[in-house]
Amino acid sequence: VAAREATLDLPDDELRALFDGARSLAEQEIRAARGGPIFAEPPSAERLAALIDEDLPVEGEPLADLLDSCGEVLAAGRRTAPAFFGYVQSPPSPVAVAADLLASAADQNVTAWRSAPAATQVERIAVRWLGALVGFADDAAGLLVSGGSMANLTALLIALRAATDPDADRRLLTAYASVETHFSVAKAAGTLGVRLRSVAVDPAQRVDPRALRAAIAEDRAAGLQPFCLIGSAGTVATGAVDPLDELAGIAADESLWYHVDGAYGALAAADPASRPTFAGMERADSLALDPHKWLYAPVDCGALLVRDATAGMRAFGADAGEYVRVLSGAEAESFAFWDHGLELSRRFRALKVWMTLRYHGTRRIAAAIAEDIAMASQLAELVRGAEDMELLAGPALSICCFRHRPPGMPEAELDRHNERLLDTLQRDGRVYLSNASVAGRLALRACVTNFRTTPADVERLVDVVREVGAAVRRP
Ligand SMILES: *Cc1c(COP(=O)(O)O)cnc(C)c1O
Repeated sequence: VAAREATLDLPDDELRALFDGARSLAEQEIRAARGGPIFAEPPSAERLAALIDEDLPVEGEPLADLLDSCGEVLAAGRRTAPAFFGYVQSPPSPVAVAADLLASAADQNVTAWRSAPAATQVERIAVRWLGALVGFADDAAGLLVSGGSMANLTALLIALRAATDPDADRRLLTAYASVETHFSVAKAAGTLGVRLRSVAVDPAQRVDPRALRAAIAEDRAAGLQPFCLIGSAGTVATGAVDPLDELAGIAADESLWYHVDGAYGALAAADPASRPTFAGMERADSLALDPHKWLYAPVDCGALLVRDATAGMRAFGADAGEYVRVLSGAEAESFAFWDHGLELSRRFRALKVWMTLRYHGTRRIAAAIAEDIAMASQLAELVRGAEDMELLAGPALSICCFRHRPPGMPEAELDRHNERLLDTLQRDGRVYLSNASVAGRLALRACVTNFRTTPADVERLVDVVREVGAAVRRP
């Protein structure tokens, strides 16, 4: 057979040069994330446009030029350096980075066992391991998804199908979650056309169970149909963990599907010292957690764990007879992820979870998480001991919310002062914080999900906040 003229394959020496170049860029990224800075230069839309916006190339370019440009683009990005305390952003562990490269090379489309037998088996064991790791279940079913948002949407859809027929009127169906719940839950409810009632929290930002019971009773009396309760295992603003066991009791009393959003926090249940905080999480019908947050996997990788695999199958198409048959017979070989979630073509995300857990083991992962939590406690201690800082919430899990409070500055000016401080600090590049609203006050929010962050980075954070705070202060 004559060779194709327009093959996209590479000769062996070019292939080697490509992967040598890519490997050296990957190593450079990992080294850059070890030290910082967070930005090589303050980000500027103009500079990025000059670097990136070119005409659609009609002819290809030499590999060396392309790798150079790629290096420049990577260098212009934000690095999750040890002093990056914003959002919930972990750097990837090197093992998981390599796993993602291998997943792309093998390019298994993990739709079903028939299409990707080994990858399907790896994903099913990875899901079980995640369930065991956080004490949810040793035999959890479920699947990996793009992240917590997709996990929450999938869970709400399963809950909806467990409560009602596909063609039923959804307008009366009501889900419950605290006002501190991640906005992806409201998005999911909106997507599905169901109501979401926001419930008040206590002073520690945990849902108030009495307010929750009252809301459900009031809605029932008004003719609404409560169907789902969502608890937070680590809110994104302050790290608050709802009273998960009490919520499980309420869900049972009220016959509601009980979903726990642990996208940020649930993996901290791997840490024996933190496990008691999550008591009751194991009673959930479904649990969202994000390996791309606290399992240090590169994006994207979320997980939805479910206690009863047949609930997912009921939601995603298989009729009653079919799912019972499939789960009993030659189960492994007839298994299809399309029966358990929304996506058909799916990336081999499980490889990075599987390789991370095998290489490091759960003891090391739990210790890394525990150390992240210790950094947030250290920050809270420094804030408590500083005359010009005020602790606003926590520390809870690995989040600490505080603000700069120069002696003598009136309360009414503090929000604006801290906003200016944050804006300047985010462009500064030495350290990075995000913001949160705590009881109506603007907080500087630090979150540690970085196995490279040390006590010295935490001290530097406080110093830089103080320095920038002085600089932006209006006389
Ligand atoms: C991050 C987060 C989400 C959304 O997860 P993505 O992976 O970004 O889609 C949902 N809930 C909580 C509590 C989170 O921290």
